[in-house]
Amino acid sequence: MDTDVTIGPNALPALAALLRQPAISRVFVLADTHTATLCYPRLRPHLPENHHLIEIEAGEEFKTLRTCDSTVWCQLTEQRADRYAVLVNLGGGVVTDLGGFCAAIYKRGLRFMQVPTTLLAQVDAAVGGKTGIDFQGFKNQLGVFQTPAGVFIEPRFLETLDVRQLKSGYAEVIKHNLVADADAFHEQRRTGIVVDDWTPTIAHAVALKQRIVAQDPYETGPRKLLNFGHTVGHALESYLLTQPGREILHGEAVAAGLICESWLSVQRGLLSEAELDKIETFVFSVFDKVSFVLMEMDIIAEYATQDKKNAGGTINCTLLQGIGNGVFDQAVTVGDISAALRYYHRL
Ligand code: NAD
Repeated sequence: MDTDVTIGPNALPALAALLRQPAISRVFVLADTHTATLCYPRLRPHLPENHHLIEIEAGEEFKTLRTCDSTVWCQLTEQRADRYAVLVNLGGGVVTDLGGFCAAIYKRGLRFMQVPTTLLAQVDAAVGGKTGIDFQGFKNQLGVFQTPAGVFIEPRFLETLDVRQLKSGYAEVIKHNLVADADAFHEQRRTGIVVDDWTPTIAHAVALKQRIVAQDPYETGPRKLLNFGHTVGHALESYLLTQPGREILHGEAVAAGLICESWLSVQRGLLSEAELDKIETFVFSVFDKVSFVLMEMDIIAEYATQDKKNAGGTINCTLLQGIGNGVFDQAVTVGDISAALRYYHRL
């Protein structure tokens, strides 16, 4: 399941070289309305002349079966894409997740390549072979593990990304370090988010994720570490997606989840109060607090029962046994999640 990841100015030329293989019948590019305008012009010179661009609406609310059906699979079929076609996914985590999923299902599997254009997708979503879509309001409810034929990361795509989106990706960088690299977390606290060259941050995050994924590609063990912050994060994100005007970005939900799940780690005696304080102070130096009212907490906590890490009715959460050391499969209850949300609400 190991995939070659090329990072830096050589990424798009490396992709172009791969796309010139004679065994490829046609190149399809999947972009959303924003990446089609802002990123596709930079990619276009690296594509064969006869490629076909498929454009979908931008946003998590379009990471659905309807988009796969009415746009992606429909256009692949109309354009008579055969099994030797490749799909190049140009966009953030929505495009890389949905595009990977569409490619995996179409004619039992097209090759696909990830060209992530948000920080979140560059440090996390495009790496590791998880693809999927949301279903019936639940995050990533349908999906498959499918290895991309390559991941090509050009940090200059981030030049057009707004600060809110950059911060959203930064939440996953914090998460990676909290579960696996204490030194990197403390370095992050020292330097803060102001970074003029993202390349070293991306390279570190990708290497860390690849190391964990290599041990456990199908998430039966240590890969669950990467879900730290996501039990509460996904529950919050899923709930707020149902509340028009209150939707939050994936990383913003994860940032709240990092605090809630660190607090749960303290309750289990795994993390010290001083460590929790360091995490909270740093997270709040980057992210605003997510607002919800007390009445909503039990409803949000209930969403955690649909989390994919759960087994046999138990909510399995990743917690921290000290900064830089995640522990997975920690059983928590809906009541624990509500209590963690209550704690966060009081901060
Ligand atoms: P996104 O794909 O919605 O992108 C965010 C916004 O930025 C969109 O409006 C997009 O059009 C725009 N955009 C993308 N690139 C741009 C650029 N270079 N300049 C300007 N605008 C640009 O969201 P995201 O935050 O990238 O990804 C979130 C998704 O990733 C979630 O669905 C989450 O579940 C998924 N995810 C998947 C994994 C995985 O392992 N597969 C891991 C983490 C997150």
